[in-house]
Amino acid sequence: MSELNKILAANEEYSKDFRHGQLSHMPSRKIAILTCMDTRLAVEDSLGLKTGDAHILRNAGGIATDDAIRSLIISHELLGTEEFFVINHTNCGMLTFNDEELRKKLSEKYKTNASALKFHSFPDLEANVKNQIDKIKSTPFLPKDIQVYGFVYDVKTGRLKEVAGKEREKE
Ligand SMILES: [Zn+2]
Repeated sequence: MSELNKILAANEEYSKDFRHGQLSHMPSRKIAILTCMDTRLAVEDSLGLKTGDAHILRNAGGIATDDAIRSLIISHELLGTEEFFVINHTNCGMLTFNDEELRKKLSEKYKTNASALKFHSFPDLEANVKNQIDKIKSTPFLPKDIQVYGFVYDVKTGRLKEVAGKEREKE
């Protein structure tokens, strides 16, 4: 079966027993999660979340890009979330290349200048998590005291390690 047909068949099955039709569009746990697109990170399963509980924003690396921050502002301001979680993970693909190399490769492959592209690759997981938190906290369009927790998820054990956020809790 092609991937397209597998997807359509799975959705047919899913919709037969669908029970989420009455859910609110407001996340019931009032949380938003920014994390990587990595296939091994099963966000809902690993964090005990159900459909309707949380906003889950994913991109390569769990980066607080302008677009991720746009979503977080909407999430908080219009949809009531009050706590954010930034989660990176061990063995992330973003540790395996650097922007300059990828730009060069793309420029050559597509014979088009890729120098304006930013991929946000990074060499250090914990530092990267902290940088994303700093970026989120630096926007003037979120409350100064909004909670932003930072974690690294271990793809070998399924465990979260907190790397940022506790200091704020004690305040
Ligand atoms: Zn990743």
